[in-house]
Amino acid sequence: MAGKAFPPLPERLPVDVFDSHCHLDLVEVPVSEQLASAKAVGITRVVTIGVDLPTSRLGTELAEEFDAVYAAVAMHPNDTTGITDAVLDDIADLAALPKVRAVGETGLDYYRDWAPKADQHRSFRGHIDIAKRTGKALVIHDREAHDDVLRVLAEEGAPDRVVFHCFSGDAGMARVCADRGYVMSFAGNVTFKNAQPLRDALEVAPLDQILVETDAPFLAPVPNRGKPNASYLIPHTLRLMAEVKQVDLADLCTAIAATGERTFGPW
Ligand SMILES: [Zn+2]
Ligand SMILES: [Zn+2]
Repeated sequence: MAGKAFPPLPERLPVDVFDSHCHLDLVEVPVSEQLASAKAVGITRVVTIGVDLPTSRLGTELAEEFDAVYAAVAMHPNDTTGITDAVLDDIADLAALPKVRAVGETGLDYYRDWAPKADQHRSFRGHIDIAKRTGKALVIHDREAHDDVLRVLAEEGAPDRVVFHCFSGDAGMARVCADRGYVMSFAGNVTFKNAQPLRDALEVAPLDQILVETDAPFLAPVPNRGKPNASYLIPHTLRLMAEVKQVDLADLCTAIAATGERTFGPW
């Protein structure tokens, strides 16, 4: 990742882990180079996330080309204005592919209300249905919409495997997710100075319901906040998470690897 304003490689992890949520196509480095840097620090797999039909298709192509890549397909809530059944049918077709391991990112975004709430809800319910029909995990984007996301999941009946990507709830919400068997995926913002409520949520999240992600190219963790992000920077996030959970880094990595395989596997 040299010469691209990217930070240096962090120390290698003691146990291999994976990146549960990244956008390989948005990182301005060839995918092969992103994967090589990630592997060098112990990130041996990544789930690349679709946000519309073209990026969902691209994700499935990358998953075909690279062993280490798995795909998730969906229409991002910000891109659901006027969503039709035909689009949902296309997502369902992609979701059925063997290296597509999740339907997402879908959900509700009340922070960036680019799409009308009615369309976001229709899309979210449609994606929940696709996840259940195809037996894939559901990857949720929840931005300032906690109550409605939890309510819609309960109304529709959640799929067996649900992941809250870039978990942004507080300790109370983490307890609700824990009780319902949902998995909470923490991103680089858990390392930010002002993110104590997120660290409080991480503290109460059960060790076997936690994942880690970059959401690359966004949300680079401290000490590289504000720089471009990529999967190889996950060790910074994991080291902070191990401190918060008061567990050995190796134990945290082992737990996350197992939860990852349970959620997106078998690899
Ligand atoms: Zn998101
Ligand atoms: Zn994302």
